[in-house]
Amino acid sequence: MLVLLLAGCAGAAAWLAWPTGSPPLDPPTGDQTASVEPTTQYIPSNDPPSAPLSPLPVDETCEAAAPDGAAEANAASLNTLSWAPFGRAETGWVIYAPRIGAELATACGPGTTRFAAALARWQAGHGLPQTGVLDAAVFDAMKTRWTLARPFAVINAKGECPNAPSAAGLAPAKPHEAYGAKPALLRPGALEAYRRLVEAAREDGVVSERDPRVLTIFSAFRDPAADAARCARDNNCQGVTRTICSAHRTGLAMDLYIAAAPGHGPDSSADDNRRAMARSDVYRWMVRNAGRFGFVNYVFEPWHWEWTGEAPLPGVPISSLPQDGSQPLDQGAPTPQPGLKGLLPRKNEVR
Ligand SMILES: [Zn+2]
Repeated sequence: MLVLLLAGCAGAAAWLAWPTGSPPLDPPTGDQTASVEPTTQYIPSNDPPSAPLSPLPVDETCEAAAPDGAAEANAASLNTLSWAPFGRAETGWVIYAPRIGAELATACGPGTTRFAAALARWQAGHGLPQTGVLDAAVFDAMKTRWTLARPFAVINAKGECPNAPSAAGLAPAKPHEAYGAKPALLRPGALEAYRRLVEAAREDGVVSERDPRVLTIFSAFRDPAADAARCARDNNCQGVTRTICSAHRTGLAMDLYIAAAPGHGPDSSADDNRRAMARSDVYRWMVRNAGRFGFVNYVFEPWHWEWTGEAPLPGVPISSLPQDGSQPLDQGAPTPQPGLKGLLPRKNEVR
C-alpha cells in the first residue's frame, strides 16, 4: 500500500532506493548474543516496507507546496550530510529518517515535497526558520523533544540515578519472548506493556513466523552491581554513564531485536547496522506505534526502548555512586550511550 502510494512521487525514489543489503542470514556476532542464534534461515523483513501505517492518514499524497528546493536538498543530504549528531562523525541521516518522519506525521519519503512541507510546518511550530530542510539544528530540536520524553534521561540530566528494583519487584519474560531464550527480567507493568505491543505488531504483520527473532528481548533489567563488576573485570566500561547509571537498572528499559546487518549483533552501533534497522519494517512500525503502548526510543540505538507507564524508582545523586571504571578509555571517541550527559539537553533546557 505504501509503495503504491509513494510510487507516483518522484521524491519518494530516495526513500525507496534505500539499499536493501544482503539478507541477514549470518548469525549476529554481538558480544552479548553470539551463542543464541536460532538455526532456521529467515526471510529478511527489510524494504520495501509493508507495515500498515495505522496512525497516519491513508490517503496521504506525497506532493505538497513546500519551500523551493527543500525536497531536493533533503534528497541529497539524506545520504551525504556530514555531521556528528551524537558526537561521532556520521554521513547522512537515513538512520533517523523513520523517527523524523514519525515526528512529522508523514509516511512520505525524505525527498518528497510532502516531507519538506511537513518539516517547514514543524519548524514554524518550534521557532525555527521554515526552510523545509533537515539540518543539524532541526535535528537537535527534535532530539531535545525525544530526550525529554524519556523520564530516565530527564532524571539523569539532573544528576540523579534511579534505584534498581529488588528481585521481588521483577517478572521474568517467557523463553519465546527472550532472544535465544536468555533470561530477561522486567518490572511487571513493563512486561505486560511489551506483550501488548508485540500482539499489536503481530496483528499488523510485523511480527511473524518468518523471523521469530523480531521484537524478542535481548537485554532487560541489568543489576547495577553486576554491570559494574563486569566493567571492572573486563576493563571495558563501554561509556562512563552506562556503567555508573544505565537505564537498564530501572527494570523499565529493554533492548529488542530489530534487525542485524551481516556480521553484526543486534546491539552493534555500527552505522551499517543501524541503517539496516532503520530500513526494517519493524523499526518503522515501532517509531509510529510503540508510543501507544508507552514506549520511547533512544534514537541513537534503534533497539533500546524504555517504558514510561510507571516512573523509575527514586534515585540517588550519580556522584554518590561507585565511580569504578569510569575513567575514559583511551580508545578514541566513546560510544554514546543512553543517558550520557553529552546527549542530553543542557541543564537549563530541562524543565
Ligand atoms: Zn539498552
